Amino acid sequence: MPLRHHLAARLGATLLAAAATAPAAALEAAAGPSGCRPADLVVVLDVGHTPEQSGSASATGRREYDLNLALAEAIAREAVAAGFTATQVMKTTGSGRPQLESRSRRAAEIGAGLFLSIHHDAVQDRYLKTWFANGATRRYSDLFAGHSLFVSELGARPAESFGFALRLGDRLQSIGMRPTRHHNEPIPGENRPFLDEARGIHRYDELIVLKTAAMPAVLFEAGVIVNRAEERRIVRPEFRRCVARAVAAALADWCPGDKPPEPLACRMPTPDGGALSEEPETGTGGTE
Ligand SMILES: [Zn+2]
Repeated sequence: MPLRHHLAARLGATLLAAAATAPAAALEAAAGPSGCRPADLVVVLDVGHTPEQSGSASATGRREYDLNLALAEAIAREAVAAGFTATQVMKTTGSGRPQLESRSRRAAEIGAGLFLSIHHDAVQDRYLKTWFANGATRRYSDLFAGHSLFVSELGARPAESFGFALRLGDRLQSIGMRPTRHHNEPIPGENRPFLDEARGIHRYDELIVLKTAAMPAVLFEAGVIVNRAEERRIVRPEFRRCVARAVAAALADWCPGDKPPEPLACRMPTPDGGALSEEPETGTGGTE
């Protein structure tokens, strides 16, 4: 490992450890890049997985890749509307490690100032049961639901990554999203320590797309698609729009423009179509 990377990793460990013990102070300190201007910030929305290797399958057989793409496109629309006009959706093809390693490199080539990888979640095989859905026998687990955020302290900008994760976690909480806890379980394949439990932020140093990133980088699992009720909620356009607005608001918190951020108003749908919360965050607007 080059010395520069050693130093970055050690500095990151220190900053993340401090941040994890005092999230409020970290939030205060972890502003976005100084002088950040929304119109100039290249936000790369990395669509998790590829058409060839599409990630998890949902309880009814949907491909994770398709859900990731739909959510990334919704986020891009809201980000552009909020003034982040240089936002780009980044799609990747192929398979294996090369496609993973290409992501942060391509993001750097296009001048990304923030890398946000978009995913939907599954659970360990031990929790899966089978049922018949959508014409086939499929696997599901209703045990876990909710979102997760991951940061790596091996990336080049761990403190700013954590700062963005804190702001996104806040905005997700404000629309009624709750984190899942299953990545913290002490079992093989999980065991990801919380950096901030209430906001669902984990440390996951070895995630390739994060540890190779030259810019602040966060991976967002928007929900558990093997959970049957959660899948019904996730596929609703209102869910995507509401989450996309939360991400756009988090961008504005992290990289403020001249205007104060707009109030975040949306209604998060329940699995069967109602609203989880009728109250927008600031009590204004919100007819959607
Ligand atoms: Zn994924």
